[in-house]
Amino acid sequence: MRLSRYFLPVLKETPAEAQIVSHRYMLRAGMIKQASAGIYSWLPLGFKVLRKIEDIIHQEQARAGHIPMLMPTIQSADLWRESGRYDAYGAEMLRITDRHDRDMLFTPTAEELITDIFRANVSSYKDLPLTLYQIQWKFRDEIRPRFGVMRGREFYMKDGYNFDLTKEDALHAYNRHLVSYLRTYERMGLQAIPMRADSGPIGGEDTHEFLVLAETGESEVFYDSQITDLKFGERAIDFDSVEQCQAVMEEFTSRYARTDETHVQAEFEAQVPEERRRTARGIEVGQIFYFGTKYSDALNATVNDGQGKDVAVHMGSHGIGVSRLLGAIIEASHDDKGIIWPEGVTPFHCGIVNLKQGDDEADAACDALHSALVALGLDPLYDDRKERAGAKFATMDLIGLPWRITVGPRGLKNGVVELTSRRTGESEELPPEAAVAKIAAIYGVTAA
Ligand code: ATP
Ligand code: MG
Repeated sequence: MRLSRYFLPVLKETPAEAQIVSHRYMLRAGMIKQASAGIYSWLPLGFKVLRKIEDIIHQEQARAGHIPMLMPTIQSADLWRESGRYDAYGAEMLRITDRHDRDMLFTPTAEELITDIFRANVSSYKDLPLTLYQIQWKFRDEIRPRFGVMRGREFYMKDGYNFDLTKEDALHAYNRHLVSYLRTYERMGLQAIPMRADSGPIGGEDTHEFLVLAETGESEVFYDSQITDLKFGERAIDFDSVEQCQAVMEEFTSRYARTDETHVQAEFEAQVPEERRRTARGIEVGQIFYFGTKYSDALNATVNDGQGKDVAVHMGSHGIGVSRLLGAIIEASHDDKGIIWPEGVTPFHCGIVNLKQGDDEADAACDALHSALVALGLDPLYDDRKERAGAKFATMDLIGLPWRITVGPRGLKNGVVELTSRRTGESEELPPEAAVAKIAAIYGVTAA
């Protein structure tokens, strides 16, 4: 993509309304624009990252055997009356009346809707286990929307729901999700720590939240410092294996890690030696629940158990804050010049900066680099504007592409361009082909 043809409305001034760094950078980098309180338009750069995050989630859900689908954003109130949550959900639910005076609502979560789909279509244990999920917009009329996409009113969420014959099977689904989420967040360059949590209005018996440590996090967290050494890494997991999922789950959840809601100081002190006790702030980027037969009882979702009995299915639900993740990633990865995208979610794989736009040789070298990268299936952003070098660098630093290739007449005389890492700031000079090869290797693509 040539920057001169792209839509990147970068702001020079720091917007006064933004209190935290991710919100400031998302506005300044032209990623989002507020439409009304807690509701945002996703401009091209922000939309690209949102899609990248979504892609990773879909890939990891497929790996775990979960099935994608899509439900509407507007629901009828009827099912919520049936489950008893219509009144219980309170002011966060956006209630709408249609022209026939029917009570509708903008979906804050979809346990009722999915359970209705299940009960209408599944009646035998033979169709279990089953895990369905969607990535869809949600609306919660938060009393204080703030911090940009971190606490919006409209936000994008992955929500999944498992249906199992027994509690044991449902607990396997719970563990499988925990493992799958660890992989998912790591691929986004994040360390998200599972912490035992409170279940809130979803209700339930077992629940973990995933928290990313960051100074601006809304939750206070207490944890054993050994937790931050754990990496899921490249290990191969058979998601059908109860033992394997349980082993990972135990590895990642046996050490003390709680939010302020569930923290018990005496337990913390008993379980963790003083030198390993840490308190910090954390951003909740996901949560998983096992809630047994709460919704299947309320909505009468049963299956034949194969022994002549109809039994209520055991369920759980699992959420990832897709739009919040953009903010969380920026909070965890930035410096005073701008965002530093992890390679897994970067909107463009690298930037190309032409130091002397209009110089035949420099223009030709940039065009060749751009074509070579595109031919490899990569997505470079070529700053071809007639701007000062300093302004081009500032834009690249702000939007946070992890790699930058700088091209100028002086280097070209010696047959080299400069490759710079956004994270370390380190540069090396190398021939253009070698720069392309290096970028290709970083992203794991090979020339055809
Ligand atoms: P919170 O405690 O932050 O209000 P929650 O526990 O009510 O969130 P869940 O029902 O667990 O939220 O939703 C799943 C995920 O959706 C959360 O882990 C969070 O990442 C994200 N999320 C929830 N509310 C918002 C919001 N208002 N704006 C952006 N993301 C949100
Ligand atoms: Mg939650």
